[in-house]
Amino acid sequence: MPETIPKHCLSFDVEEHFQVSAFESPMRRRHWDQYESRVEANTEKLLELLQNSRVRATFFVLGWVAERYPTLIRRIAAAKHEVASHGYAHELITAQTPAAFRDDIRKAKGILEDILSQPVLGYRAPSFSITKDTMWATQILVEEGYIYDSSIFPVLHDRYGVPSANPNMHQLLTASGLLWEVPPSTVKCLGVRVPVAGGGYFRLYPYVLLRTLLRKLEGEGASLVMYMHPWEFDPNQPRMEGSAVSRLRHYLNLDKTEFRLRTLLQDFSFAPIREVFPQVEHQNSPQMRTAVEVGGNSCPGSSSGALFN
Ligand SMILES: [Zn+2]
Repeated sequence: MPETIPKHCLSFDVEEHFQVSAFESPMRRRHWDQYESRVEANTEKLLELLQNSRVRATFFVLGWVAERYPTLIRRIAAAKHEVASHGYAHELITAQTPAAFRDDIRKAKGILEDILSQPVLGYRAPSFSITKDTMWATQILVEEGYIYDSSIFPVLHDRYGVPSANPNMHQLLTASGLLWEVPPSTVKCLGVRVPVAGGGYFRLYPYVLLRTLLRKLEGEGASLVMYMHPWEFDPNQPRMEGSAVSRLRHYLNLDKTEFRLRTLLQDFSFAPIREVFPQVEHQNSPQMRTAVEVGGNSCPGSSSGALFN
């Protein structure tokens, strides 16, 4: 049977339930090794679900996790999923210096490539923390050999987002070269751009509403870029202390995520980012350029000036 031509991107940020930014604290970070690890079992569960649905995806793996579970990373790749980088230590870029960021993404890429013996092209920042203030990160990504990024969320949010950013896949021109940007999906409703890409939104919206919004986007010709986390499929994970908002965002409807994902996989056709957007394999090919925007240090403060289409 020929495989259906994939149209949309499905991705997972592989991290432990205690590493999420909502529960971040220096004290907790020091004790990461003492928390119950659940990432391997949760990711295995996801791999099985995807295999049963005959769907492949992109896994943005945290270097800290890859270091501890190299066999898991090989299993992800052996199932023909794409392995990409979620950085090493899950520090928000907004809390890092450029030098620390470079070390973090270099270390993660090195660990993943040593495990897989193949190049890792993609990166996603912890909590989408490439913002207007950290746009310098795009230049460093290019310098460290990343070809595409999926960290700039074109929405207004209390912890991340660049509301004016291009919501479609495009290229950023940094002082060190071009970087493909693959933004998480958003859709304009009544003049407001709202996220429909996954994560907490996937658990918050009634599924029928979400599907309507995704169909609207699909009808506009866009490829969806969805993201989820292995811990979102683990309703029995230990509860962490944190603010009421953080706890609501993290624990809401965890018992519904698995069913919703199965339904989503029936309703839409998904594949890894590298396959949905093969342009990322040819980042410097002029005919592949869709739109180039200025990012990185080359033009501080500007992230939405299209140079050409
Ligand atoms: Zn993360």
